[in-house]
Amino acid sequence: MMFWDTKYLLFVMLPGLLIGLWAQMKLHAAFGKYSQVPVESGLTGAQAARRILDQAGLNDMPVEEVPGQLSDHYDPTKHALFLSSDNFNGRTIAAVGVAAHEAGHALQHLHQDTMFNLRMALVPVTQFANYAWMGVMVLGFVLHIIPHFILLAVAIFSVLTLFQLVTLPVEYDASARAKEQLFRLGLVREDERAGVSKVLDAAALTYVAALVTSALQLLYYISAARNSRN
Ligand SMILES: [Zn+2]
Repeated sequence: MMFWDTKYLLFVMLPGLLIGLWAQMKLHAAFGKYSQVPVESGLTGAQAARRILDQAGLNDMPVEEVPGQLSDHYDPTKHALFLSSDNFNGRTIAAVGVAAHEAGHALQHLHQDTMFNLRMALVPVTQFANYAWMGVMVLGFVLHIIPHFILLAVAIFSVLTLFQLVTLPVEYDASARAKEQLFRLGLVREDERAGVSKVLDAAALTYVAALVTSALQLLYYISAARNSRN
C-alpha cells in the first residue's frame, strides 16, 4: 500500500484537480461578470443583509466587514455575519447575492433547520478528522508503514465525505432563502434574478467539487481495503 500509486493519481488526484479547477473557473467567471453589474436598488451587500436580518427580527445581529476575497461567512457561535470588503461595500448583483446568501445561513440558524444543525454538530468531528489525516500523512512519511492505515483512511474520509454531503443541501437552501428574501423585500428586480442565481449557483459548485473530491478518496481507500483482504 502506497500513498501515491498510479491508480490514486489517475482516479483520485487528476479528476479532483480538474473538477476543482472547473468550479474555480465558473466561480471567477460569474463573479468577474456580476461584480461589475450594479444592482438597481443601489444597496450595498451589507445593507441588503441588514434588511433581510431586520425583517426576520434579527435586529441585533452585527454585519461586519472582514479582509480577504470571498471570505464571507455566517458565524453561528458569534451570531454574526462577516462580509468581505468587496461584498460589504459593493452595490452589485454579486455583492447583494452573496450577502443575502450569508443572511440565509442566519435564517437557517434562527429556524433551527435540521441540516444546518447537523452540519454544525459535524464541525468538531470534521476538524478532528482533518487533524487525524494530517497526523497519518506525517507519520506515514516518517515511519513508511502504519498498521491498519487503510482502515484509518476509510474512517477519516467517511467523516469528511459525510460533512461535504451535509454541506451541499445547507448551501443550496441558504441560496434559496437568499433569493426568496431578495425578491420578497424588493431588494432585487425581476430582471436581476438570473444574475443572482448565476452567482450563487457558481458558488455552490465549489461545494459540489469538494464533495466529489472527498468521495473519490473514500472510494479509493475502500477499494484498497478490499484488495488488501484478498
Ligand atoms: Zn454558504
